[in-house]
Amino acid sequence: MKVLILGGTDEARRLAAALADRPRTHVVSSLAGRVRDPKLPVGEVREGGFGGPGGLAAWLVEHGVQVVVDATHPFAARMSASAAEAAARTGLPSLILRRPGWRAAPGDDWRWVPSLEAAAELLPSLGERVFLTTGRRSLPVFAGLDGQWFLARSVDRPGPVVPRRLEVLLSRGPFTVDGELALMREHRVEVLVTKDSGGEMTTAKLFAARELGVPVVIVRRPPLPEGVVSVGTVEAALAWLESVSGPGGGAGAGAGSGRRARHAGER
Ligand code: NAP
Repeated sequence: MKVLILGGTDEARRLAAALADRPRTHVVSSLAGRVRDPKLPVGEVREGGFGGPGGLAAWLVEHGVQVVVDATHPFAARMSASAAEAAARTGLPSLILRRPGWRAAPGDDWRWVPSLEAAAELLPSLGERVFLTTGRRSLPVFAGLDGQWFLARSVDRPGPVVPRRLEVLLSRGPFTVDGELALMREHRVEVLVTKDSGGEMTTAKLFAARELGVPVVIVRRPPLPEGVVSVGTVEAALAWLESVSGPGGGAGAGAGSGRRARHAGER
C-alpha cells in the first residue's frame, strides 16, 4: 500500500514512524518546504506545493499512491481543501488526521475570535504588551497596531511587514510552563494571542497565561473540508489505514467518500 502523508506536524512524523517498518507499506511524506530547517519524518520525503488540487491529483496517479492522509496543521486550510478535492477526483480513500482543539479550564480567560483580523481588532481593549504566537506569516495582520508592543515567537524570521514595536524570538517548541512563565514575566506580557492549534507541544503558554491571569485571544480553526473522514490521533489513523488496506496491503477506492466531514466510526 502506498500512502501519501501530507505533513508538517508532529502527528505526521509519528504516523510516518509508525508505518516505517510495516511490510508492504510504502510511505511518502510531503512538506510545504517553507521552514528553512524542518524537522524531517523518517522515510521518503518530498517538498513543495503540488500546484493545487489538479496538480496533486496528477501527482497521486503518477506516483501510484493508494491512500492519502492529510496530517497537516489545523490551520493549513488550503492544503486540506486541495487534498480532499484531489482524493475525490482520483477516487482514493483519504483521511484527515487532526489533533483535537484546546478546551478552556477553570481560571482561563479566553476570548475566541474567528480570524487573525478579529484578534487584531480586539487587542487594544485587552492590553498593550502582546505575546504573539500565531506564526511569522501572521505578522502583517498586526502591523497597523502602533499602540501595542509585540513579542512575536516564530520558527523562522518574519518578512518585512511587521508591527512597528516588535521583538522577535526565534524558537521552536516544545516549551515548558516554567520557561513560558519566565518569558511572560520578563516581558511583562498583558495579553497572549494564539491559534487553536491543539496538541501538547505548545500548551505551556496557556498554563502560564492562566497562572499569571493574562487573557488569551484564541483564533478558531477553519472548518474541515466536506466529505472526508477525520480522526484525532495517530492510533486512530493507523486503525483506519488497517481498515482500508485490502488483501495484500492494497487500498480500496472510495473509502473516504461522503458529503460532509465525518469522524471515523460514524455511520
Ligand atoms: P496552506 O495555506 O493550507 O497551504 C498553502 C499551499 O502550500 C498549499 O495549497 C500547497 O500548495 C502548499 N502546501 C501546504 N502544505 C503542504 C504539504 N504538507 N505538502 C506540500 N505542499 C503543501 O498551509 P500553510 O498554513 O501554509 O502550512 C504549510 C505547512 O506548514 C503545512 O504542511 C502545515 O502542516 C505546516 N504548518 C502550518 C502551520 C499553520 O499555522 N498554518 C503551523 C505549523 C505547521 P499547492 O496548492 O501548490 O499544492
